[in-house]
Amino acid sequence: MTIKLQACDGTSKHALDSEAIVAVVGSGTMGVGIAQLAAVAGHRVVLYDIRPEALTKAVSNLKMGIQRLVDKAHISATEGDRVVDRITTTQSLSDLNGAGIVIEAVAEDLQVKGVLFVDLEAVVAKDCILASNTSSLSITAIASHVKAPERVVGMHFFNPVQAMQLVEVVRGLATSDICAQTTYATAVRWGKAPVYTKSTPGFIVNRVARPYYAEGLRLLNERAGRPAIIDTVMRDAGGFRMGPFELMDLIGHDVNLAVTKSMFHAYFCDPRFTPSVIQQELVDAHYLGRKSGRGFYQYGADILPPETILEPVTSFPEQVSFRGEDPFVSAVRQRFQKSFITAQSFEGEDAVVKIGTAILALTDGRTASQRAVDTGLANTVVVDLALDFSTTKTVAVARAAACSDESFLGAVGLLQAAGYAVIHLRDLPGLAVMRTVAMLVNEAADVVNQGVCSVADLDAAMEKGVNFPRGPLAWADIIGIKRIQLILRNISNFYDEDRYRISPLLNEMALCGRRFF
Ligand code: NAD
Repeated sequence: MTIKLQACDGTSKHALDSEAIVAVVGSGTMGVGIAQLAAVAGHRVVLYDIRPEALTKAVSNLKMGIQRLVDKAHISATEGDRVVDRITTTQSLSDLNGAGIVIEAVAEDLQVKGVLFVDLEAVVAKDCILASNTSSLSITAIASHVKAPERVVGMHFFNPVQAMQLVEVVRGLATSDICAQTTYATAVRWGKAPVYTKSTPGFIVNRVARPYYAEGLRLLNERAGRPAIIDTVMRDAGGFRMGPFELMDLIGHDVNLAVTKSMFHAYFCDPRFTPSVIQQELVDAHYLGRKSGRGFYQYGADILPPETILEPVTSFPEQVSFRGEDPFVSAVRQRFQKSFITAQSFEGEDAVVKIGTAILALTDGRTASQRAVDTGLANTVVVDLALDFSTTKTVAVARAAACSDESFLGAVGLLQAAGYAVIHLRDLPGLAVMRTVAMLVNEAADVVNQGVCSVADLDAAMEKGVNFPRGPLAWADIIGIKRIQLILRNISNFYDEDRYRISPLLNEMALCGRRFF
């Protein structure tokens, strides 16, 4: 065994060596994945469960998982046999006594975990790390049950364990440096990309990702568009792997709603985490998503996916003028260098594209109608954010109530001539991608501001834990901190709700002209 917790000098960066025995408690979905990972890394693994049938199923799943590695040539057949031999199962807690680390993956229940940790402490050596794979419970609260809370740490893997790179190493109030560092270094040795986080509700990923669902549900509640339309915008323009509704259908609405409610209560009813009545309704109807055959979408062999409604192709505008530079205007200008439309520049402040009487501009968080009133330009059309305007094939727009049909068609025609498929959303502040990204940035900034994790770890966690196309803080730098502040202020002005309050860190950074990276 390589660590001595009582000799903590706060500087150890040593991983558990392969001689150390890894005990995994709970042989369900996560326990099996963690056991396989540790065994492939060369450890002897003892897998414990209270249910014999769970252990039988786990062994069969482990063998299948290891065979898959052999089939994909990640390990040889001989090594596969050795990995299987390194794993033993038990129903007797005393068999965990030689472990260097215990990783607990039992039911998500504080009382169950608390009792288990007390029993574990009585069995294992004094220098054994006690890690929990909890995704939502407080490590500080779990550790409070044992005599030596400094050796309790969160080791939060993501599902499926083999595929997901991220591990959140969660420090409770009492977790020692050596305990956290050894856990971190061990995760690295096992081929994972760990990040440190303080034990606060949702840690990093489950907290920062909340607005992805919350703003989607809010947009739907305010009839921005049907789920299939919003999903298409988030995927094709925003670059997210799945739209919020298809993702919630995949997670399951019972699971997603339970996490949302628990976060809402853990943050003492902060309106940012308010659950949605739409999701509650789906749960009440047992429309739980893919697993029940129906959620926002219907599933079945004979059911076609819903179609997204694109704006019909309309004529090319005769003449286009450009003013200023922002990612949208620059990309359209760039696309038109190769086109036959006559382009000119004109004077003024905001970055906009002018097509006849229509003004087309990247959203600044105001509705198109508000912007039309503020500028005195009735024919205003606003464009939603895209991950990269120079490559995206789809953009979403909203039109001011006073915008004429002719001007709107001119704006749509221009976008189509520039190579974009156009989706029309209801005129809500920040549209879909910009509003969601601004709220993701806002939550991420608060997480950093509250010392939960570093800027680099936050972005790494969101890219590796939930496959975001870009870390929210790097995205904030690209959009501009001042612009994010302006967008949030405009959304906040529209709704006049505490939910859209701006993170103090964003205000401070905008004031000082700072960037995250
Ligand atoms: P699961 O229901 O698939 O498995 C839990 C296992 O624990 C069962 O086999 C059960 O028999 C066993 N168990 C229950 N009480 C026990 C006890 N006192 N002692 C020993 N074994 C006991 O659960 P899961 O999905 O693997 O989740 C386990 C933990 O991992 C939870 O804390 C969960 O929040 C967390 N987690 C889950 C996921 C996920 O996507 N499933 C992702 C990250 C973290």
